[in-house]
Amino acid sequence: MFVTIKDLQKSEEKAEITVAGMVHDFKDMGKFAFVSLRVADGVVQCVYNYGADVKKLKLESAVTASGEKIDDRRAPNGFEIHIKNVNVLSVPHEDAPDLIKNKSKTSMDADLKYRVVSLRNNRRRAVFALQSALVAGFRAFLSQNAFTEIFSPKIGAGSAEGGANMFKLEYFGQKAFLAQSPQFYKQMLIPVYMRVFEIAPVFRAEKHDTPRHLNEYISVDFEMGFIDSFKDICETERNMLKFTFDYIRENYPNLLSTLKIELPDIKEIPYVTFREAKEAVAAKYNRKIKDPYDLEPEEERLISQMYKEEFDTDFVFVTHYPDKKRPFYAKNDPNDEKYTLSFDLLYKGMEITTGGQRVHNYEEQYAKMERKGLAPADFESYLMLHKYGCPPHGGLGLGLERFCMKILDEANIRTTSLFPRDTARLTP
Ligand code: ATP
Ligand code: MG
Repeated sequence: MFVTIKDLQKSEEKAEITVAGMVHDFKDMGKFAFVSLRVADGVVQCVYNYGADVKKLKLESAVTASGEKIDDRRAPNGFEIHIKNVNVLSVPHEDAPDLIKNKSKTSMDADLKYRVVSLRNNRRRAVFALQSALVAGFRAFLSQNAFTEIFSPKIGAGSAEGGANMFKLEYFGQKAFLAQSPQFYKQMLIPVYMRVFEIAPVFRAEKHDTPRHLNEYISVDFEMGFIDSFKDICETERNMLKFTFDYIRENYPNLLSTLKIELPDIKEIPYVTFREAKEAVAAKYNRKIKDPYDLEPEEERLISQMYKEEFDTDFVFVTHYPDKKRPFYAKNDPNDEKYTLSFDLLYKGMEITTGGQRVHNYEEQYAKMERKGLAPADFESYLMLHKYGCPPHGGLGLGLERFCMKILDEANIRTTSLFPRDTARLTP
């Protein structure tokens, strides 16, 4: 029995086949019908010749259909199935809301409320198939480059960067928090594996309601030891993105045509320091610098615009963020202690990654914690990393939904989250 278009494409012309799928569309033409079946990797076109015996199929029925595979270059996947026999396995209890075939424009609220159904839409399901493909590419690249995949706990006592935006929970009478990043664990595992990665949910108790933030998102994190410079991390990210885009082009051509997108062709990614970038957009676009320590969303947009105009690139690494706005584990630039050896990757006007080199020396980390007003005693297990030996290292975190949103030129991150968690949404 066939469940994918990929395998059907490989089977011979006129082969007698059986395919399993959901009735995605049904058009009664009198003596025959056009039937679309939703299978694992898309929608298969079928012609159902039942002669005088009109056998209507209800949408969203689960069926197996047997018939002949007919190659036809005009058909969406290069073939059709001429169905002779249908076996109905299950019939829906009710007609689904009209969100599956993109006939009328669906509002985001309706889309999210009825996600269980709206995801059956061909494009929407392709969005999340793209996410799956991106993760498959990242994983393949990282595994090939000696990174070990880790699974760090999401419930913990402390916090990496302060408790302000962490969700609190009751834990058998103790106070516990949901992890806002796997930062500490990635670092702790550096002397163990030298290179680690994790692709998992993280939680941010940010109260704001913006088109770029979720309260739970998938963070693609990696961390690598024995780096010469933070630019080793940037170059690894560049190679990972390039590998992944090539991997998807090669392995998922149907997906890209369904989504009607082309993935970027990554060559060199330019570097610019935080200060230079800030000053350049202030001068070029005639703006006042309001916050000298961080980039406003509008500045991220303008930096990208400037690099698009001047260098025709959608990606730019902004480096050397001020120490003031970077966490205590960020390593300062020995040439100018006001800045850190850290970076953000901007893509089409928005930050998609933050990364950098970390402090690896015990005394240096101890002193930096105190300087930032933190009590080293609160970080006992984390500081064992530095105390008991650790190489120079660094890493990054990339937000999967945000990256996907920018690849697809979507305006709101909720559209690229399977079941988004925002300040108002806890179901489905
Ligand atoms: P922003 O400035 O956009 O709020 P951030 O600097 O607080 O992001 P980091 O802690 O640096 O975010 O997280 C690393 C990456 O994770 C970001 O570059 C982004 O891709 C993603 N990310 C961060 N916060 C969120 C969120 N609330 N929802 C979705 N993705 C997020
Ligand atoms: Mg950031």
